[in-house]
Amino acid sequence: MYGLQLQLLTYLDAVCKKEDLEPAGVLYFNLIEPIIKSDKRKTEEELEEEIKKRFKMKGLVLADVKVIKMMDKSLETGYSSLVPVYVGKDDKISEKSSSTATKEQFEILQKYIIRTIKDISKEILSGNIDIKPYYKNKKTPCEYCEYKSICQFDKNKFGNEYSYIQELKKEEIWDRLKAN
Ligand code: SF4
Repeated sequence: MYGLQLQLLTYLDAVCKKEDLEPAGVLYFNLIEPIIKSDKRKTEEELEEEIKKRFKMKGLVLADVKVIKMMDKSLETGYSSLVPVYVGKDDKISEKSSSTATKEQFEILQKYIIRTIKDISKEILSGNIDIKPYYKNKKTPCEYCEYKSICQFDKNKFGNEYSYIQELKKEEIWDRLKAN
């Protein structure tokens, strides 16, 4: 919504349009090899299980239990070990414990993403290249940025300002996206 994670949804939209497809989800996982810390010696199986958990995918999947069970064929009920979903009794997807979107919500997201990309492009082309990192939940991207010495952003210097982002609840985000 704030234009911070556009990449996956942009790819999704491009593929859907090119191939005339409907989205089933956008997922990713971290390629960094996980380090498992433990107080006691773990068996091979336990370690494998822990590693699997670290590779569980993040993102957004279609709120359709049939589609979800095609993604994770071993899933009956409970948390999927592959995708960010919890399936309860009677195949009900838990909205609270899952990261899902309906077909309509995916459509809203796709439209929003395209509009955001256009807006950002217009801003850049009009010459707006302000150094204005986001500040969300007491975090900024500058913390571990390798380009700090080049960009010289310093909050204490006149004219340097963060782009403050207010943390919103899931429902509030959908409401705002719908209204846009
Ligand atoms: S240090 Fe500079 S380049 Fe890096 S994230 Fe912050 S503002 Fe951007």
